[in-house]
Amino acid sequence: MSRPDLNPVALHPGVIAFHQPPGGWFVSNAGLVAGRDAALQIDTFATEPLNRRLETAIDAYLEPGTRRTVALTHAHGDHAHGAGRLAAAGTTILATPPAAGEVLSGPHTYDFLFSCDWGAIDPPSGISPVTEPRDLDLGGTSVTVVPVPGPAHTHGDLVVWHAESGTLFTGDLLFLGVTPLALAGSIAGWLEALTWLETFGATTYVPGHGPVTAAADDPVADVREYFEWLREAVAGSADFAAIEAAARARWPAWGAGERHGVNARIAYAQAHGVELDFPAGVRDLLSSAAAHGEPMTETGLIRLDL
Ligand SMILES: [Zn+2]
Repeated sequence: MSRPDLNPVALHPGVIAFHQPPGGWFVSNAGLVAGRDAALQIDTFATEPLNRRLETAIDAYLEPGTRRTVALTHAHGDHAHGAGRLAAAGTTILATPPAAGEVLSGPHTYDFLFSCDWGAIDPPSGISPVTEPRDLDLGGTSVTVVPVPGPAHTHGDLVVWHAESGTLFTGDLLFLGVTPLALAGSIAGWLEALTWLETFGATTYVPGHGPVTAAADDPVADVREYFEWLREAVAGSADFAAIEAAARARWPAWGAGERHGVNARIAYAQAHGVELDFPAGVRDLLSSAAAHGEPMTETGLIRLDL
């Protein structure tokens, strides 16, 4: 597979989503809201080459010298690894305090799972913490950076809301057409956050992974259905392989199906108040991916041919 396309999707004047299909491991989305005087970038990408391409694509939408801010929806590298490059160029970086702490202690590359030439992904020297909704006046339009009230995909998620166009950049609260990954947060909290997402009344969702989707297609319901199904599945069973097989059968079109087994382990641990067997979860991920002809290195970065 060659490197993914950026697929800029113009949603409204100055509002752009950058969608990298197919949306699997480290293949994430980013966004831009640009006003007359300033611009907010939503998220960065996983590697230096990908971030250079994103920066070039964004430059094409902005007047030279436009004041820039970047909001990191959470700390995962596929969303945050470009923050250091941008900060070095004078860009302000926003994140929730838990996400800021994790980014600043990085970069985190999970070498036990991934093999990749990351390039320059050093973290920024500082991040401006967002602890409550923050409006940014961009000149002629404004945008709001809103921390998610509780743990969800991670313990420090945020979303970006452009009310004028009804666009909600959800970060990884929404994985669309690709299996969500619940390794870093709370499944119960994630379900609450999905209900909270709907209170914005968005017309368009830009997910963290997967295509831009109209609210009329109710993509939030797809993610909710998955986690409710998963919680029901682990209520009376710890047969994670069987749960994974059932999930693969139920959502056959979703990429990164190797995540079902580890998601089931996490759902089980959280529902029953027991400790997650993390090494076993990692073994599940690797063996499941290999068994389905999707070695992690091939669903991950090495296939990007960077
Ligand atoms: Zn994530």
